[in-house]
Amino acid sequence: MLVRFWGVRGSYPVPGESTVRYGGNTPCVEIRPDDGSCIIIDAGTGIRRLGQYLTASHVDDCHLLISHTHWDHIQGLPFFSPLYNEGAALTIYARQRDVHLRTLFASQTEDPYFPISLSDVEAQVEYRELMEGANFNIGNSQVRCARLNHPYIAIGYRIDADGVSVAYVSDTAPFDRILLGYEFISQRPDMTDRPTGSDAAELAAMRQGVVELCRGCDFVIYDTMFEMNEYLDCPHWGHSAPAHALEVVEEAGSKALALFHHAPGRSDDEQDAIVERTQQQTDVKVFGAAERKTYRIASSGTEVEEGVV
Ligand SMILES: [Zn+2]
Ligand SMILES: [Zn+2]
Repeated sequence: MLVRFWGVRGSYPVPGESTVRYGGNTPCVEIRPDDGSCIIIDAGTGIRRLGQYLTASHVDDCHLLISHTHWDHIQGLPFFSPLYNEGAALTIYARQRDVHLRTLFASQTEDPYFPISLSDVEAQVEYRELMEGANFNIGNSQVRCARLNHPYIAIGYRIDADGVSVAYVSDTAPFDRILLGYEFISQRPDMTDRPTGSDAAELAAMRQGVVELCRGCDFVIYDTMFEMNEYLDCPHWGHSAPAHALEVVEEAGSKALALFHHAPGRSDDEQDAIVERTQQQTDVKVFGAAERKTYRIASSGTEVEEGVV
């Protein structure tokens, strides 16, 4: 199974000389099991270049899993060139909301925001609404999902195929300090209080769900936008630090961790230092997710190929 990163940056795109090695595009990950299925997770600005690559490679049937519809995870969708190819098919999976997904995604391209409505594109677009804990197949791949701790809720995915597994856990806060759900908490909460009662039970169940999602996984892609001091300043934003990711992947017995959703202000050199520090704290193999690299996932270990596309 191959994993390629087309966007690794959280919040907003940051092209420029200080982000050229890791990349400045917002989240988009391509997963290619051996059966040739094209599974994409999230539609940040990285999906534009992926679309060009897929069109050039004559891939015309894609499955797009959306973690949540915050702007940085969907803003590239109108620029995904297969949408404009007659004969192409795109199936979009996302968590069920009170508005149907078709309406939700179509509103992104309505006047005055964009000139071409999503309902007028050439490709055949289908929507699959997911409940938390859903389990389904794409080709020979089994896909599972779990709830994450993020304002207005995000979902993580796990894909099992070819005897290996990849999990995508973004965006999420850790599961001990604050329960994030159907509201945005605008004030930093008092960090001396720990959740109690039903909030504590809900967080514990969510954490268990994420640990199970990563159980024995060969490659876990995890939101580590924060350093620990940044997390403590903004625990209500719904993101983790590398130590939070390590806690989960070590408990789950995962084999490799890709730090992901890098802070927009983080330079390549700063990100290198974070990857190195994280690797020193664990026996799990640590990578810093970077654009234009292909990760070949095998049960014997993950290998990275530079500059494949
Ligand atoms: Zn995000
Ligand atoms: Zn988000």
